[in-house]
Amino acid sequence: MSAITLRELTKVYPNGVRALDALDLEIADGEFFALLGPSGCGKTTLLRTIAGLELASAGSVRIGERAVTNLPPGQRDVAMVFQDYALFPHMTVRDNIAYPLRIKKVGKAARHDKAAATADELGLSALLDRRPGQLSGGQQQRVALARAMACHPQVFLLDEPLSNLDARLRLEARTFLKRLQRELGVTTVFVTHDQAEALALADRIAVMEGGRIRQVGTPTEVFRRPANTFVAGFIGSTPMNLVPARVHGDELAVAGVRLPVPEDVRGELTDGEQVVYGVRPEYLDYSPEPVPEALTGQVVVVENLGSFSLVSLDVPGEDDAATSVQVVVPEGREPDPGDTGWVVPRPGRSLVYRDG
Ligand code: ADP
Ligand code: MG
Repeated sequence: MSAITLRELTKVYPNGVRALDALDLEIADGEFFALLGPSGCGKTTLLRTIAGLELASAGSVRIGERAVTNLPPGQRDVAMVFQDYALFPHMTVRDNIAYPLRIKKVGKAARHDKAAATADELGLSALLDRRPGQLSGGQQQRVALARAMACHPQVFLLDEPLSNLDARLRLEARTFLKRLQRELGVTTVFVTHDQAEALALADRIAVMEGGRIRQVGTPTEVFRRPANTFVAGFIGSTPMNLVPARVHGDELAVAGVRLPVPEDVRGELTDGEQVVYGVRPEYLDYSPEPVPEALTGQVVVVENLGSFSLVSLDVPGEDDAATSVQVVVPEGREPDPGDTGWVVPRPGRSLVYRDG
C-alpha cells in the first residue's frame, strides 16, 4: 500500500515564510494526483516535505502504513523528478539511470541490466552511452523519469516535469507520462501551475493557494463546481465570469437584470445578501437580438481564437460601474466592437459564491 496521508502539515522556513499551513490531504494508492496553484503557493515545498528533502515544522506524513515524518529521504521509498531534471552532466545515460541503484550498493552488472531494461521501457535504449548534453529536452526528461523508476519506488513525485519542454513536445510528453503512470500504477504526485495540464492528466486535483488547499476533486468536479472564487478564477482556459450580485427572494440582481437563483443554493441565501454570480464564457450564449433573462451590454473586444471567438462586453454593474463579461461565440457569428449584445446563461450552469 502506498497511499499518502498528510495531517496538519506545516512548513515554516527559517526566514519566517509559512509555505505550508496546517495542510490536510489524502492521496489514494495508485492515484495520479495533481497539485495545482500559482507560483509561490507551496507546491515544491509540499513535494520536498513528502520526499524528506525538507523536514516538517509540524504535522505528519504517512506513506502507506509507515509514519515517515522524520525519516531521511533514502528511507521513504519515494523518487522525485525535479523541474530541471538534475541529471549528472559528466555521466552517461546508463550511469545516470543506474545512479540510485549504486547508492543502494547494487552490483555493477545488476545495475547496468536494470538501467538497460528501464531505458528500453522508455524508448531510450539507443541513447545509453550518451551524456545529458547530447540529448534533447524531451529525452533528458525521459532519462530523469527512468532514473526515478529504476528503484521501483512506492511513490513518484514530479515537480513541473513538463515545464521545460516546448509546446508540441509538451503535449507528447503529457500523453507519454499518463500512459506510463497507468502501466506502472505507482502513486504519483504531479506538480504544475498549468490548469490545462492538471485537467488533462490527473485522476484528482488539489488547488493550492498560500500554503493551503482550496479544493480537492476530480477534473470534472473542479471545472464544473469550483468551491470558491479563487478556484473559479484559476481553472478553465478562459477565467470564469464573476459578477457582483444581490439576492432578492428567488432572484439575483446581476448587472441590471434579474436572473433566477440557481436551484442548488435556493433557500440558503439571505434576502438582500451581496454575493458573486459565476458563469463560464463557454456556458453563455450570445444573441444580437434581445432575449429574456439575459445580460446586455456593449461589445468592446472580439478575440479570434480559431474555431471560436472570445467576446468581451461591458455590462452595467452596481453603482454605475461597468463590469466586463466574456462569452464564447462560434466561428462566423462574431459581433463587431460597438454592437449591443445579449448573453444568456445555459440552464444549470450558473453558480453563486459568498466568498467574493
Ligand atoms: P511553488 O513551488 O508553488 O512556486 P514554493 O514551495 O517554491 O512554491 O515556495 C513557497 C513559499 O516558500 C514561497 O513564498 C517561497 O518564496 C518560499 N520558499 C521556498 N523555498 C524556500 C527556502 N528554502 N527558504 C525560504 N523560503 C522559501
Ligand atoms: Mg515550484
